[in-house]
Amino acid sequence: MTRIASILQTSLLGAAAVLAGPVTTVPWNGHKGAVTFTYDDACASQIANVFPSLESRKIHATFFVPGGYNFNSTLDSWKQAAKAGHEVANHTASHADLSGLDSTKIEQEIRGQDSAIKALDPSVESVTLAYPFCNTSPLVNRIANRHNIIARTCGGNAQFEWTTKPSEWMSMTSFILQDDATTATALTEIDNAAKNGTWFVTLNHGVGGDWMFISTEQMNSLFDRAIQNGAWVGTYQEIAAYWRASKTMDTVSAASGAANWNLKWTSPHPKMPRSVPLRVKLDPSVFGTAPIVSQGSQRITPQTDGSFVIDFMRLEMMVAKAGSNIKAKARAHASLTTTRDGWKILGLQEPSATYTVRAASGESLASGVVAMSTNGLIPFPERNATEARFLELRSIDTGLQLWSSALPLAR
Ligand SMILES: [Zn+2]
Repeated sequence: MTRIASILQTSLLGAAAVLAGPVTTVPWNGHKGAVTFTYDDACASQIANVFPSLESRKIHATFFVPGGYNFNSTLDSWKQAAKAGHEVANHTASHADLSGLDSTKIEQEIRGQDSAIKALDPSVESVTLAYPFCNTSPLVNRIANRHNIIARTCGGNAQFEWTTKPSEWMSMTSFILQDDATTATALTEIDNAAKNGTWFVTLNHGVGGDWMFISTEQMNSLFDRAIQNGAWVGTYQEIAAYWRASKTMDTVSAASGAANWNLKWTSPHPKMPRSVPLRVKLDPSVFGTAPIVSQGSQRITPQTDGSFVIDFMRLEMMVAKAGSNIKAKARAHASLTTTRDGWKILGLQEPSATYTVRAASGESLASGVVAMSTNGLIPFPERNATEARFLELRSIDTGLQLWSSALPLAR
């Protein structure tokens, strides 16, 4: 049975189950499973021993920092960590047990540390939280949810299956690493993540020092095992946002227009990161075998496995229908002249289009929007103008190429 027929049948049966959409997210960004390493309490040993290990392996981790002496005396290190692509996130302003506080105090603990983290680097927004002592309550969850897309507790084996829809994103467990035995178990769990396609989340305090610590060599063995297994090793925010986004993406339906399918959706949480790259596959029984995908004026080129990496947070995408004749129509009418200030398009059958000026190598030298209302002028590139060889115009609506031409020399 085709996908369409099965969706139809399911609808006729009136099933309340979530229907699979024509676009599906590739589990764990195309990896066998996922692993996130998280660290609490801004321990000095994390700065000394974990940062260099992560850097030499080119992987990223999450550091849940509480306010207080450890954090305040090492602000520059955390600033550097954020700059290096690690996640510096919230472990409350005073490392308080939130489950014992009233709503005003809980709010203060979370917001206070959110601000302290933002002060490190204005481009960083903390949208994940780790509860001190792993303690939460329904009230704490409710308040945490105002500021975070996910919040971490601890205990248990901390494996999450791709197809699971968590019932409480504000109470997600993690595996505590603190000695030889837990290190051995974690190695097995990292293997299980790859074997079963799950997300495994660990929690450390000290590494090679401080408290509840494992050695730096033990930590490195866990990193190396995750990498060898082909797991997606990413920050808590990165993987949680991807996974949350998939729950929306996989239910989006495609509205059929004259020349395109239009897909629109809404963000699952107000604190989702500004950009969430999502690797998706399009059902060929709906979109054909060579779909042309765009978001806004940006054409998304397929990956080698046929998937597309879209930005989920643009909240829309478009797939052009095969046989659309927009390209042929526009090509017949446009022409190009050179003026003192730039090139000029004549007779384009669209009020405006996006343009890209390319060098012989294909490298983009300039891009923007050209409008017939401003005489179709495309200014010369500010840099390397003499290298310009080709011009490409694309439809703002569909992302389809409208027209391309060799360029006369700029000056
Ligand atoms: Zn803590």
